[in-house]
Amino acid sequence: MQVYKFGGASIKNVEGIKNVIQIIQSYGAKNLLVVVSAMDKTTDRLQELAFAHINGNEHKHQLLEDVKNFHFDIIGKLFTDTNNPVYNDVANTFVEIEWLLEEDAADTADYLYDQIVAVGELVSSKIIAAYLNQQGTFCVWQDARNYIQTDNNYREANVQWDKTTKEIQKHLPTYLAQGVVLTQGFIGATSENFTATLGREGSDYSAAIFSAALDAEKMTIWKDVPGVLNADPKWFDETEKIPQLSYRDAIELTYYGATVIHPKTIKPIQNKSIPLYVRSFIHPQEAGTEISSEATTIPIASFIFKVNQVLLSISPKDFSFIIEENLSHIFAIFHKNKVKVNTMLNSAISFSVSVDDDERKIANLISDLSEDFKVKYNKEMELVTIRYYNQETIDRVTVNKKVWLEVKSRNTCQIVMKNATNP
Ligand code: ASP
Ligand code: MG
Repeated sequence: MQVYKFGGASIKNVEGIKNVIQIIQSYGAKNLLVVVSAMDKTTDRLQELAFAHINGNEHKHQLLEDVKNFHFDIIGKLFTDTNNPVYNDVANTFVEIEWLLEEDAADTADYLYDQIVAVGELVSSKIIAAYLNQQGTFCVWQDARNYIQTDNNYREANVQWDKTTKEIQKHLPTYLAQGVVLTQGFIGATSENFTATLGREGSDYSAAIFSAALDAEKMTIWKDVPGVLNADPKWFDETEKIPQLSYRDAIELTYYGATVIHPKTIKPIQNKSIPLYVRSFIHPQEAGTEISSEATTIPIASFIFKVNQVLLSISPKDFSFIIEENLSHIFAIFHKNKVKVNTMLNSAISFSVSVDDDERKIANLISDLSEDFKVKYNKEMELVTIRYYNQETIDRVTVNKKVWLEVKSRNTCQIVMKNATNP
């Protein structure tokens, strides 16, 4: 059996959905698990709705109307028979948020957020499953929350692997033998049966969880790019597709911020040696990128850009050296504030890190650090990570830049820099 994952961009409108259906149908009539995200930018819109509800903003009702209209417009075009149960099914799914919006936002923000945003995946999967059935492919819709079991760390829930694997193995093989099974990415449920999400863009990770539990022969992520590219086309005019990647390199690239695959995706499938393919839903006949243990990475230099970085320089107030004790104290403060370190370098008396500029988090972090350390910081930095770098690639990205920090390992170079004209 195989697992296919389709993201929001592939199902953003009626043509997109019809194209996805063709890709599914050309696989065959059974032994395929399909994981879908919310359609287009629905999660962004639901996120706005969740924040409006949490902040008591009445604008929330209009936001929900917009999300509903977007989906019912698509349903109207796909199902000419208005008696098709999908009309009621989707309407009922929205009623659950309507109830929630009627109440005061008394629960914790992260909990409310998850109950609201999960609806995007629930409705997209219901529409696509119904459409597959209408188009003659027997499709079994399954609620991912019956399978993906999590803790209650809402918005970034951790998967309880044992329970999850058991549920998947117990029920899904029977359905897979009968037809195409279609479920949602991104969502799971806590032991108390509340919806929890796995973090933004987490549908890839969901597909990997199902693949690992089912020992899939392959997993394929269908994207709007031809495969894993050596740079985001947003930053580079000339990009190259990497035809083959080892798991190791794929983990490194996604860890440093390549957004083509969610970083948590690789590990579960690597543990089971399941090859992962990244392919284009626009050109489904093309090979894409293969990520596997056999694959030897062709060392094409890859570039990963992160803007809006803050470079922090932290030194002990008492002029002690940066030793284990200070480091563990510093890391504990980062952990407490949930700030992820993008790159770091330490010298005898100072420790430098580059982090994403989330203003509220960074203000709290600096205030906590300032109790024992002297903290200097610089905003509006850029971080570029080059995998398989050489001097030429470094020179290419640092034109007109002032380099503030450079960290090199054998295969990876990270540079924190700023426009030279804008010191
Ligand atoms: N729909 C979710 C998001 O946009 C999950 C995903 O797309 O992977 O974050
Ligand atoms: Mg998405």
